[in-house]
Amino acid sequence: MTNSPTGGRGYSAGRGRPAFDATARAMLLDALTAGAKLAEAAAKAGVSRNTPAQHAKTDPVFAAALAEAKATGRTVRAQSMPHGESRYNHAGCRCPVCCRKATAARTARRAAAEDGATERARPIPITGRTPETPPSFSLARAS
Ligand SMILES: [Zn+2]
Repeated sequence: MTNSPTGGRGYSAGRGRPAFDATARAMLLDALTAGAKLAEAAAKAGVSRNTPAQHAKTDPVFAAALAEAKATGRTVRAQSMPHGESRYNHAGCRCPVCCRKATAARTARRAAAEDGATERARPIPITGRTPETPPSFSLARAS
C-alpha cells in the first residue's frame, strides 16, 4: 500500500478513496484553522493524515495555506487553554494568572528537587545510625 495521491490504485481514485479535491482541501483547511489537530481535520476531509503533507510537497500554494491554517489553529487552541502553568509554557501567555501559577509550580518543583538532593547527599554516619534515630538497645541508657 502506498500513499500516493490516488491511493496507490493508479487513476481509479474516482471509484476508490475520495480524491483530495478542492472541496476536501477546503474542509481540511477549515478544520485546521478552527483548531482541529491534523488527524481530526484529515478525517473530516476524508483523507489520510499523510495526504496533506504529500500534496504540500508538490503544491506550494497548498503548502502555504496548510502552514497558515496550522498556525491559526495553534493560536485558537492556545486561546481555549485555561490560564495556568501549561498555558504559560506552551502558549507563551504572560498574564498575571499564568505568571503566578507558573512561578509557584516552578518554585515547588525546585524545592522538591533540593530536598531530594539533600536527602541523597547526607552521609551515613559511621555508627550505622542516622543522628535522629534513637538507639533501640538499652545499651545507650547505661551512660
Ligand atoms: Zn494567561
